[in-house]
Amino acid sequence: MKIANYIGGELVAPIGGAYLDNFEPATGKVYSQVPDSDARDVQMAVDAAEKAFPAWSRTPAADRSRVICRIADLIESKLDELARAETIDNGKPLSLSRSLDIPRAAANFRFFGTAILHFHSESYVTDGLAMNYILRGPRGLCGIISPWNLPLYVLTWKIAPALSTGNVVIAKPSELTPMTAYLLTQLCREAGLPPGVLNIVHGRGATAGGAITAHPKISTISFTGGTVTGGEIAKVCAPMFKKVALELGGKNPTIVFDDADLDAAIKGSVRASFANQGQVCLCGSRIFVQEKIHDEFVRRFVDAAKALKVGDPLVEGTDQGAIVSKTQLEKVKFYVDLARKEGGTILAGGGPPADLPPRCREGYFHQPTVITGLDSSCRVNQEEIFGPVAAILPFKDESEVIAQANSVEYGLASSIWTGSVSRAHRVAEQIQSGTVWVNSWMIRDLRVPFGGMKKSGVGREGGLEAMRFYTEPKNVCIGTSLP
Ligand code: NAD
Repeated sequence: MKIANYIGGELVAPIGGAYLDNFEPATGKVYSQVPDSDARDVQMAVDAAEKAFPAWSRTPAADRSRVICRIADLIESKLDELARAETIDNGKPLSLSRSLDIPRAAANFRFFGTAILHFHSESYVTDGLAMNYILRGPRGLCGIISPWNLPLYVLTWKIAPALSTGNVVIAKPSELTPMTAYLLTQLCREAGLPPGVLNIVHGRGATAGGAITAHPKISTISFTGGTVTGGEIAKVCAPMFKKVALELGGKNPTIVFDDADLDAAIKGSVRASFANQGQVCLCGSRIFVQEKIHDEFVRRFVDAAKALKVGDPLVEGTDQGAIVSKTQLEKVKFYVDLARKEGGTILAGGGPPADLPPRCREGYFHQPTVITGLDSSCRVNQEEIFGPVAAILPFKDESEVIAQANSVEYGLASSIWTGSVSRAHRVAEQIQSGTVWVNSWMIRDLRVPFGGMKKSGVGREGGLEAMRFYTEPKNVCIGTSLP
């Protein structure tokens, strides 16, 4: 099966005619071909987007809203088909695609499709001299580049606010997981999205992605992906003065105090460590547990990790599917070996599962892995692994754990488990991360600002922050002192 680019409302082959193999992670086999697009395809998308912009930006908000909400409805009507496609493409359990990825893609369109109906701007009276009001118009052509871990979820999280505020988009999904973006194009057509308003160009980062970030007519770039890639994109965009949002990597702490509800903390931190095979930027991979409960926590956490069923992601009851690619699996194995070399003890997992079904024997699987005995400063506890690997570390008191939690170069998310409200407030205030969950993990209200500190990114998206990111404020100042 050949995936096509979506440009000017049409499904088109890449101009150069080149394709990349698309693998099913659960089997390790090629099952489709992805356009290996280049600057010529991006130029074609820019031309289509430029043509579409004047009419789309002047379309009344209520009409834009109607089309965008129709896309949400269509995604919901195709839940099973899209969830299956996401699972085959990415390797995540079907139950997760069905309960999280696809419903969230629909929610993104509905949330931002209705947000535009309520979006308003400020006005200020200047001491009897003037009256100011702020216009917020669309910025024009937006480049959107997204990763493989939550393919349709993250892509639509960016597309929806960009379109609802009247922009036109040139998007590039990850070349590892292009399928649901491709299927989305059919739904956009059915919903009546005018040609050229959304364009999807598939291909590799350096070529198709690089052509988007470097294109002088694309003035806004929203990127989610790795920190190194984010740095490369920032370098290209800075001298061109593009508006850039960068959502990057994480090395998130989970902190369990000895006054926590232990059942809830274990359940929550197992989910935070291993959901989506640990391939969520928000996963907690460093678990700090207070001394008094450390041993019991480790024992119960290890039992829970061992009980997770690793297997065919298409089969009901599978908790852990496949890692997205062979390269990513090698990265996970590298860090597990490094943990051994650094003196860590592997208490669960540590390698591929033994009992995979025949269909999955060549797939990219790794057991949920639990490591103890490593301190905070070692590489395994400093670098993002992005796989089913969690390290547990003991701590004495609040100040020690805050220092350790903050000792990495990332600052995306954290979770704190405690029975004390005042401690929760105190610690949350001092943790360096864009999101702090207390007695919870990955509850994502679409209204809150989302993003990271330090090397986890620049800027915030979500809710009003996204609506503001995709619009350009203009102050209109009307003098009122003339007679
Ligand atoms: P990646 O940086 O390799 O790729 C992300 C996207 O960027 C892909 O579409 C890729 O093709 C493209 N790309 C690569 N090089 C490029 C370049 N030079 N110019 C333009 N585009 C380029 O990341 P990945 O491996 O796909 O995703 C995993 C990473 O994403 C992890 O680090 C994870 O933490 C991060 N992530 C962050 C968030 C967040 O919200 N902060 C969410 C999900 C994933």
